Amino acid sequence: EPPSAPPAASPPRRAGFDPQDARRDVPVLHRTVNGRPLVWLDNGATTQKPRQVVEALGAYYSAANSNIHRGAHTMAREATEAYEGGRAAVAGFLGAASPESIVFTRGTTEAVNLVAQTWGRASLGPGDEILVPVLEHHSDIVPWQMIAKEKRARVVPVPLTADGAIDQDAFADLLSFRTRLVAVSQASNVLGTVPPVREMTALAHRYGAKVLVDGAQAVAHFPVDVEELGADFYVFSGHKLFGPTGIGALYGKPEVLAAMPPWQGGGNMIDQVDFTGSTFAPVPHCFEAGTGHIAGVVGLHAAIDWLTSFDRQAVAAYETALLAHAEQALAAVPGLEILGSAPGKIAVLTFTLAGRDPAEVARWLDAEGIAIRAGHHCAQPSLRHYGVESAARASLALYNTAEEVDRLASSLLRLVQSSS
Ligand code: PLP
Repeated sequence: EPPSAPPAASPPRRAGFDPQDARRDVPVLHRTVNGRPLVWLDNGATTQKPRQVVEALGAYYSAANSNIHRGAHTMAREATEAYEGGRAAVAGFLGAASPESIVFTRGTTEAVNLVAQTWGRASLGPGDEILVPVLEHHSDIVPWQMIAKEKRARVVPVPLTADGAIDQDAFADLLSFRTRLVAVSQASNVLGTVPPVREMTALAHRYGAKVLVDGAQAVAHFPVDVEELGADFYVFSGHKLFGPTGIGALYGKPEVLAAMPPWQGGGNMIDQVDFTGSTFAPVPHCFEAGTGHIAGVVGLHAAIDWLTSFDRQAVAAYETALLAHAEQALAAVPGLEILGSAPGKIAVLTFTLAGRDPAEVARWLDAEGIAIRAGHHCAQPSLRHYGVESAARASLALYNTAEEVDRLASSLLRLVQSSS
């Protein structure tokens, strides 16, 4: 019997939170690496996929594959419904009032570039300023530098405090009527910092500036409500949310999206095409040129359904406790220093180990089946704030356990002891 067409309606919420419920759903967590059970602590780079996501992708390609929005046949209609159902699911997940506020992109990076190239190109001029905190990911720095250079605008860094928070006094001082945009992460991928984005947005709006919130690291950790945040734009990637790679979303306030020119030209984004000139489809379709990642949307929808089947407040509380456990366990490792200690941080532990190259630390852990990341984490200014160019990073998700964290700590302890 062929698999049935995706996607399913949202399953009922499960009560409380037990990480084993999440682990059971994620096949890759049960493999071994280098002869040891895998400990996946590279969730900041990408998250692992529950079988519900894998099955939704399989079901789509096995039973429901079609292009969308065109073709008067049953499967085109089904695929269109799945795609637009995914849009509604993303809107619901972000607390957006309307699915039309959601534009599908390849991910966070493409979403930021879209805003820079459309809103930025139409709105920025000489002397205008874009405020970007030092903790931002490169994908929330470089697109602004590129458009700023073109428009003779300026990207102004907002400094951090010693614990890795955004210096709110400096932010208030830097804001002015020259500020056209504030681009800020809701959670830092290196320092774990969770800035007061709602307050920063309200302050920026007093100067008439727009605010783009990068939710790439936030969405997997705590519930988001874009209406409550008040941000003009919100961006995230599906693959950091237990969904597929190559799919993500841009939320934009309806009036802001409506005033933006389209980005890429091509099929799907037009109303009428003629050599005398073309007209464009309404928002959000005018920002989605060409055939999109339809299966990716189906997979993202399944990921959202999976994550929201848990009690998210309970998940957030569990992760906070796991972070505290990890901080304590790592404190027992001589020479280990954690970068970023702002209160309320997400469960990201970026660290240096005295006398050890982070790449060597990652190789040692990998030999024991523990996956972390080493390097600059696409956030070089964040690391330079601490005077380093490279660091190791263990980033946790809801399916990680205290036992896994203990394996990390004891392996690091053995590494330190191996040379003394
Ligand atoms: N922003 C933040 C805070 C991130 O952590 C990342 C990825 O690590 C990105 C943006 C870029 O995401 P993507 O590579 O999925 O576009």
